[in-house]
Amino acid sequence: MAGEPQPDCLFCKIVAGEIPATVVRKTERILAFRDIAPKAPVHVLVIPHVHYPNAAALAAAEPELAGELLAEAGAVAREEGLADYRLIFNTGPGAGQTVFHAHVHVLGGRPMTERMV
Ligand code: 5GP
Ligand code: ZN
Repeated sequence: MAGEPQPDCLFCKIVAGEIPATVVRKTERILAFRDIAPKAPVHVLVIPHVHYPNAAALAAAEPELAGELLAEAGAVAREEGLADYRLIFNTGPGAGQTVFHAHVHVLGGRPMTERMV
């Protein structure tokens, strides 16, 4: 069934507490934790507890939960003291996605002005 935990998914294991993570926020449906290889002074990953392969798949199946994910990303930025920050959803290996459990990167704490588009 959609959203079911996947046995080989790293982020499902973090949600289950089987792999440790530095958690910064936790709600009934969303978890936020620090990236293990930070690309900026603040680099937090925000994920739904349930498993979807990417953010668009999450939004298609559970739009309200996708909204919660974004709201939590904003809450993380606020708590981390970021006025300006970047949200990134890598989607597909060719775009740099390496963990196939929906997540948004919250990046900030340094100038994030380099253009990608
Ligand atoms: P993606 O490349 O799929 O958009 O993002 C996956 C992110 O997960 C990467 O930035 C990577 O550094 C991070 N990551 C990979 N393994 C772990 C881990 O075991 N713990 C944490 N906290 N982050 C991880
Ligand atoms: Zn998963």
